[in-house]
Amino acid sequence: MLSSFPADKDADVLVIGAGITGLTTALALLEKGKSCIVLEARSIAFGTTGGTSAHLNTVLDTPYSDIIKQHGIEKAQEVLRSTRKAMEWIRHNVEKFAIDCDLTDCSGQMYAGTADEKKQLEKIKDGIIELGISCREVSDVDIPVKQIYAIEFAEQGHFNPAKYVVGMAEAIQALGGYILGESLVQKVSRKDGNILAETQAGDLFRADHVIYATHTTPGIQLMNFRVAPYRSYLQLWQLANESEYPEKVIYDMEEPFHYFRTVIQGRQRFLLVGGQDHKTAHAQNEQANFLALDGFVQKHFSPFKKVYEWSSQYYESLDALPFIGYYPGKPDHRELIATGFGGNGMIFGSLAGHMLADLIVTGNCEFESLYSPGRFGPLSSFKDLIVENVDVLKHFVQDRLSITKIDGLAELARGEAAVLKYEGQRIGVYKDGDGAITAIDPVCKHAGCLVKWNNTEESWDCPCHGARYNIDGEVLTGPSMISLSKCEIGKR
Ligand SMILES: Cc1cc2nc3c(=O)[nH]c(=O)nc-3n(C[C@H](O)[C@H](O)[C@H](O)COP(=O)(O)OP(=O)(O)OC[C@H]3O[C@@H](n4cnc5c(N)ncnc54)[C@H](O)[C@@H]3O)c2cc1C
Repeated sequence: MLSSFPADKDADVLVIGAGITGLTTALALLEKGKSCIVLEARSIAFGTTGGTSAHLNTVLDTPYSDIIKQHGIEKAQEVLRSTRKAMEWIRHNVEKFAIDCDLTDCSGQMYAGTADEKKQLEKIKDGIIELGISCREVSDVDIPVKQIYAIEFAEQGHFNPAKYVVGMAEAIQALGGYILGESLVQKVSRKDGNILAETQAGDLFRADHVIYATHTTPGIQLMNFRVAPYRSYLQLWQLANESEYPEKVIYDMEEPFHYFRTVIQGRQRFLLVGGQDHKTAHAQNEQANFLALDGFVQKHFSPFKKVYEWSSQYYESLDALPFIGYYPGKPDHRELIATGFGGNGMIFGSLAGHMLADLIVTGNCEFESLYSPGRFGPLSSFKDLIVENVDVLKHFVQDRLSITKIDGLAELARGEAAVLKYEGQRIGVYKDGDGAITAIDPVCKHAGCLVKWNNTEESWDCPCHGARYNIDGEVLTGPSMISLSKCEIGKR
């Protein structure tokens, strides 16, 4: 699926990242006659696009009632219009490039289990209706849960994200674009009027424009401080009772909330259940979130067996709207970004692809000021920026003070990992099933916070800006572009 190396490393546009955002952008650019190279650190959909639940929503995770309150009715109407546009773009790609990705239109439902939740849900319903999406109260929801109040709204959907991005990747290559895997971009610079991107392997690419479709911007850049990383947990279940598989996309009002839909693979149906979201590296024990989902499914459904579970990461912007457009502060509008999609990146990533392509080709695009990364307003809220960065500072200081000191690595159980003080040295240490130790320097290479062990994904995650590393300290996700240093300790 990935391209072989192009003879010429020049293109009109370099797109960094081969998730839904990067691939949609590359395809839109190629359709408009621009040449394009996609540079991907690992492989297509290695990032969150490969771990998404792929609901397609015009009703977003941030309720329209909140968006209206924060931004006013006109901007909220624009937000809705942009989500409808994104739905159209997805349909356009599916039809034009004959992508078989199980694209399904359906309605959505939200339900409340308590009086407090009902009050909140009534407000959400009012916001949806005020904007003009068809929405009504219903007495039943499509899954077997107890509820005291529920609503149903039109214009939602879902698809198979892997099939969709593979279809786009094929179309990109058919149109003469390149998608290069194992190409971690470590540096973007300027020379002789060109943008240069240098990969970890030392390959140098040259273009007129560069797009950071990396979910969060690599390196220490202003935008890293305007989005916050969150993790969400997903499971696929086979149910004993066929009638319990929902036809709609469904959400509860719990805190943290849960979401549900049916996934079909071949002839087999599965219940996809997700939720338990929390800020990255802020959970004591990530595994507890899978147990919470297990408990939910056991309580409400007739499970036959759990087939698979995983977690993945998304980025919330400080004002709940994504950042799509020119990178603030960079000269001459030749570096562009798309980030801060929250839990609606299928829609916003698709929208971003078309907005960014228009910006490059014509110099303007629809929704440019609404989603401008340089916007200033109630939502680029200075207050929230301070709160978020106080959290970063807290981790920077407190995590260093609370490191456990141990005298021998025998104290660490097999399969366990932790940041510890050992023989006067601060180390992140992992002990595998055979007792072999892998030790890393736990200082994140991005902004210097201490990483924390994630016991579900077996990764070292940074609580400050969401960089993630594998057991050996290699970068899994940015914004860090440099691996953690290894420490020599051996087997104990
Ligand atoms: C559990 C979960 C469920 C979700 N469910 C939904 C949903 O139902 N509906 C919805 O709309 N959204 C959902 N989202 C959000 C959505 O999945 C994401 O917003 C979306 O996938 C982001 O796509 P992307 O292409 O911007 O980023 P990614 O898919 O993360 O792609 C970024 C790519 O950039 C690459 N990269 C990073 N740095 C570099 C570098 N320096 N050099 C080269 N390559 C680099 C990465 O390897 C990665 O492949 C969910 C998110 C999570 C975590």
